[in-house]
Amino acid sequence: MNKRVLVKFSGEALAGEEGYGIDTKILDYIAEEIKELVDNDVEVGIVIGGGNIIRGVSAAADGIIKRTSGDYMGMLGTVINGIAMQEALEHKGLNARLQTAIKMEQIAEPFIVRKAARHLEKNRVVIFSAGTGNPYFTTDTAATLRATEIGASLLIKATKVDGIYDKDPMKFDDAVKLDTISYDQALEDHIKVMDDTAIALAKDNKLPIVVANMNEKGNLLKIINGDTSKCSIVK
Ligand code: UDP
Repeated sequence: MNKRVLVKFSGEALAGEEGYGIDTKILDYIAEEIKELVDNDVEVGIVIGGGNIIRGVSAAADGIIKRTSGDYMGMLGTVINGIAMQEALEHKGLNARLQTAIKMEQIAEPFIVRKAARHLEKNRVVIFSAGTGNPYFTTDTAATLRATEIGASLLIKATKVDGIYDKDPMKFDDAVKLDTISYDQALEDHIKVMDDTAIALAKDNKLPIVVANMNEKGNLLKIINGDTSKCSIVK
C-alpha cells in the first residue's frame, strides 16, 4: 500500500513578501514539492489555511463583524487559496481535486471522505478547503481531522521554521530544536506552531504531527522516507 500523508500549509505561506494575497511563485514551489511526493508514490492530501486573506479573530476584533461571520469569511479565504493550489498542481501536470467543507458545487466537490479516498488511490492530490466548516476552529484542527479521516500515517505541518524549539528561536540565540515531543508536553507548553485542539485530536487518534520547514527543498519527501533531521515530531 502506498504511503498516505496530509500536508498543511498556512495561508500566510502563500503570501510571499507582500504579506497578503497569493504569490504564484510560491504556489509553483509548493506544487513542485508535492509533485516530488506523488512521483514517489505518496498519496497526498493538502489543507491550506486562509491567514493571507482573513482571520476570523482579527476580522471581529473591533466588534463590528461578529466572530462567527468573521470565521466564515476566513473559511471562504481558504477556498480561494484552494482554487489557486488546484491550478498550480494541474499546471505541474498533476491531477488534483478541491473539496470544500461548505458546499459550493460550482467551484468544488463537497467534502466526502469516501470520494477523497478514491481520488487518493488514483494518485490525485486532494485539497481540503473551508476548514472544518465550523466557526471557532482553525485549519490546523481541520488538517488533523482530515488526516485522521483519510487514514494518513502522518500530518506534516509545513512552516517557515525548522521545527519546535524549547524557546522562541527568533528571540533567543541559544534556543534548541526538539527532535521529538510528546502530545502531553506539546499541550502543556502550548507550543505556538500548533493549537491545543489540533494536538488533542491528534493525541486521541495517535496521529504523529511533523513540524517542518517548507523552504527546505526536498524536505517533505525526506521526512516521509524517514529522514527527520530537519523537523520536529509530536507523537
Ligand atoms: N476557520 C474556521 N473554521 C475552521 C477553519 C478555519 O472558522 O475549521 C476560519 C478562522 O476564522 C481562521 C480562518 O478561517 O482564522 C483562516 O484559517 P487559519 O487561521 O487556520 O489559517 P492559517 O493560519 O493556517 O493561514
